[in-house]
Amino acid sequence: MPLNNEGLRKNNAMITNSRYVFVPPPVPSLPVAGSEQLVPIRRIYCVGRNYADHAVEMGGDPNREPPFFFGKPADTVVAGGGNIPYPPLTNDLQHEMELVVVLGTGGHDIPETRALEHVFGYAAGIDMTRRDLQGEAKKLGRPWDMAKGFDYAAPCSSVQPASKIGHPGEGAIWLKVNGETRQSGNLNQQIWKVEEAIAYLSRFLTLAPGDLIFTGTPAGVGRVVRGDRLQGHIDRIGELEVIIE
Ligand code: MN
Repeated sequence: MPLNNEGLRKNNAMITNSRYVFVPPPVPSLPVAGSEQLVPIRRIYCVGRNYADHAVEMGGDPNREPPFFFGKPADTVVAGGGNIPYPPLTNDLQHEMELVVVLGTGGHDIPETRALEHVFGYAAGIDMTRRDLQGEAKKLGRPWDMAKGFDYAAPCSSVQPASKIGHPGEGAIWLKVNGETRQSGNLNQQIWKVEEAIAYLSRFLTLAPGDLIFTGTPAGVGRVVRGDRLQGHIDRIGELEVIIE
């Protein structure tokens, strides 16, 4: 849409005061629970197959293979959930309910014994997935980006600071669709614990404040359609509701 005169004037004023050729996009963020503060998001990493029962349902090995990682763009986050549009080019949009780790500090080669010191807090997120595109990508040996990194692909609750809730190594994690339980697990079923995932990921690159890590999903992932209401819950961390439009 073309800018009106007032829009152009503001736009030009911003450009005049900087070297950017257009106004930089807003910084994606998540609210901190019980405060007015925001966590600015830098990157979103995701752990694949981190619960044995989900690894089995995806045709994988429930044993302890090294973890693998993929990403989503930071601006796919949908802060606090709410209504999201059904994405294009899929007939098999699926939910993956996940514990999200929010880093407050970063580093490279972080030892497991120090990893939790880098956690600012935790949130409840849904790794929305275009499963049909992912299946095709797997078959052809192609990247997963279009299956995982589409618009609105990362609904996420507000962040509970670790300074308040500690580091939950166990607790119920579940997701209901239209009131019916689809996923139900416990954080203690994770193959790679939070500290292990952080340490492992930090061997590949330098982690930084504002990085999110979606830590994988328990079994029961499934298809959603327009009009569905998704309710996610993680003990001590909170609730997340998403409606597919
Ligand atoms: Mn996932």
